[in-house]
Amino acid sequence: MIDLRSDTVTQPTEAMRRAMASAPVGDDVYGDDPSVNKLEESAAEMAGFEAALFTSSGTQANLLALMSHCQRGDEYLCGQQAHNYRYEGGGAAVLGSIQPQPVDNQPDGSLCLSQLAAQIKPDDCHFAQTRLISLENTIGGKVLPLDYLADAQSFAFEHGLKIHLDGARVFNAAVKQQVPLTRISQHFDSMTICLSKGLAAPVGSLLIGDEALITRARRLRKMLGGGMRQAGILAAAGQLALEQQVERLSIDHDNANYLARELAQLDELDVDRSAVQTNMVFATLNQPHNPNALQQHLEQQGIRISAANTLRLVTHKDIERSDLDKVIDQIKAFFASNS
Ligand SMILES: *Cc1c(COP(=O)(O)O)cnc(C)c1O
Repeated sequence: MIDLRSDTVTQPTEAMRRAMASAPVGDDVYGDDPSVNKLEESAAEMAGFEAALFTSSGTQANLLALMSHCQRGDEYLCGQQAHNYRYEGGGAAVLGSIQPQPVDNQPDGSLCLSQLAAQIKPDDCHFAQTRLISLENTIGGKVLPLDYLADAQSFAFEHGLKIHLDGARVFNAAVKQQVPLTRISQHFDSMTICLSKGLAAPVGSLLIGDEALITRARRLRKMLGGGMRQAGILAAAGQLALEQQVERLSIDHDNANYLARELAQLDELDVDRSAVQTNMVFATLNQPHNPNALQQHLEQQGIRISAANTLRLVTHKDIERSDLDKVIDQIKAFFASNS
């Protein structure tokens, strides 16, 4: 199957499978797992932070970040499109009693600082207390500009807020901008990273922050049932994700650009090429074409996509250029037989 639904479908590499089989492990709830400890130290160092925490998912890492920065009845500011607002089951509200205050994302994925300012609540007993700003990078495949990150950080500081980055795909941003991870992470008080998307590890994310934040998050992780025992089996794959899978993300970006360029030539599709900055292509199907019919046609040809009027096609390690040529040919064939 050529699976373009997400970069979460990536298979672990052979090297990961070998490392998992031979990983030194211990009980991580006692702090005894050498492979987890090594992964947490490596991630903290790469991001220029004091500490990191290995989590079962990005959703858990974001929830721990929100709950570690905020108390019950506090509020965080985020984008309408933020994963930790829209796509995480309302966990901040349900499990953290933390109120989200979303504002619209700008076309480039950023949050307008004056709109954020207007949402910061005064110190008055009518209001939840605003504590935190949460940004996302990349967002919808788009990379937040470094200048904007610096401005957002100053803004947070001036208003006495903390600032978190949902960096599930932050390595895509760093590779695209050709900067070390620290050039992005230095603007935040905490950051999450997914190991199981484009970096191809089977399971796991990291929350990165200072010692005090990570200590609070470690306690909360146990409370949420996320304390894992010989988790070094998973961390060993995550280690190779950080060491071996980051630079190659540029191949995925080139492939997305290629796919977008080819699809943009078809009258039946609208492709916003300026939005194709990393590994995602968004293509809107013009009337009267039906996304479900396209999905079914492609599925029969061994190509898997999510059906939606605006298709999201994601490139990743298990997609080759020749796979994309097949995808392009089959999309053309579908339009030819439905015109
Ligand atoms: C995937 C994703 C997450 C959550 O990660 P899971 O491991 O799927 O829980 C969080 N934020 C963003 C931006 C993501 O893309």
